[in-house]
Amino acid sequence: MPATMSDASPDAASNAGSGGPAGTDHPVGPGVFADLVGQDEAVETLRRAAASAARIVAGSATGNGAMTHAWIFTGPPGSGRSVAARAFAAALQCERDGIGCGVCHGCHTVLGGTHADVRFVVPEGLSIGVGEMRALVLRASTAPSGGRWQAVVIEDADRLTEAAGNALLKAIEEPPPRTVFLLCTPSTHPDDISVTIRSRCRVVPLRQPPADAVAAVLAGRDGVAPDVAAWAAAAAQGHVGRARRLANDPEARNRRDAVLAVPRRLTGVGACFDAASALIEAAEAEAAASVSAADATERAALEQALGAGGTGRGAAAAMRGAAGQLKDLERRQKSRATRAQRDALDRALVDLAGFYRDVLITRFGAPVDTVHTDTAEVSAAAAGRWSPESTLRRLEAVLACRDAIEQNVKPRIAVEAMMLALWRG
Ligand SMILES: [Zn+2]
Repeated sequence: MPATMSDASPDAASNAGSGGPAGTDHPVGPGVFADLVGQDEAVETLRRAAASAARIVAGSATGNGAMTHAWIFTGPPGSGRSVAARAFAAALQCERDGIGCGVCHGCHTVLGGTHADVRFVVPEGLSIGVGEMRALVLRASTAPSGGRWQAVVIEDADRLTEAAGNALLKAIEEPPPRTVFLLCTPSTHPDDISVTIRSRCRVVPLRQPPADAVAAVLAGRDGVAPDVAAWAAAAAQGHVGRARRLANDPEARNRRDAVLAVPRRLTGVGACFDAASALIEAAEAEAAASVSAADATERAALEQALGAGGTGRGAAAAMRGAAGQLKDLERRQKSRATRAQRDALDRALVDLAGFYRDVLITRFGAPVDTVHTDTAEVSAAAAGRWSPESTLRRLEAVLACRDAIEQNVKPRIAVEAMMLALWRG
């Protein structure tokens, strides 16, 4: 397995070998779509489109309508929106009639993120700017170097600025003949994607994968012990990546344990503020750990590039330019850190909401599985103490906190208000 591929996409690398022996026309295994868990319908749509796309490339057909140039992948976080877009892009570049074998050069390089005709926009900050989008659209309008398709994958297309959305819309309205746009958003709600862009795209809805399908993948492909896989799949509430982290990363498990200890700690006003501080600080620490290495690498690379400018005429102007570039880098890094903090905090709130949901379904004896099987005793005890109304108010307080942060309320203020509401019940 080439290092570039396993570095960029460990999941893809782990299943690429099952795509069948090189040189055969049909894969033995599921190929590039193997990482889409519990999404049979979407996979079928994408397979048909990729096969049709391959016939168009071969000149044997103008297409049967299965292929189109703009797609939106929707679904809850962790359902595999970007995984689906990447797999489809790979199938479009697959050298075996678009089957997405997972092992040919085309599939391989797309999954590894190095294919010359496939570009990924992964927003690191809170939005995707117009400059980035214009540059992308321009490059995507050239003829594909590999003779197949130019593909642009836009993760989190719900974070397009209005201007960036307009630049993209123009390209989608007048697409070059072999360019494909693959957009990922949580939903097709106008808050997530403009109505005009939506109207020009085919939508591939992904569902929240069932816990047993997630557990089967963890146990079967990743070699996780079956009981751990079942626990992690339930606790992650259908989020495949989160389930994998919980199964494999002790620190992720510790952070989750700390979050689930919150309900027991709320014994007074002071305890509420302490719990809020702890939750915010844990999110900040987690975010800092996830971005600090990238920050340092980027800064070193930029300083080296600027330092190579030397002295002489124009040096003063170069210095001014350098200060601007460093400032720009710091601004982008700050935006990325804020995003990472919000994501970490949101994961904690989803875990917490799962706990109050467990209390509620236990109280009512609802015939559905608990999310947090390891805190079942605590949630059962709470179900005996709290009225259904007060439990529901607590669950709503957590959801209201998520909404408030989404609406740009300062996280500390939103979390403190939530803790007080959770204590009062
Ligand atoms: Zn292939």
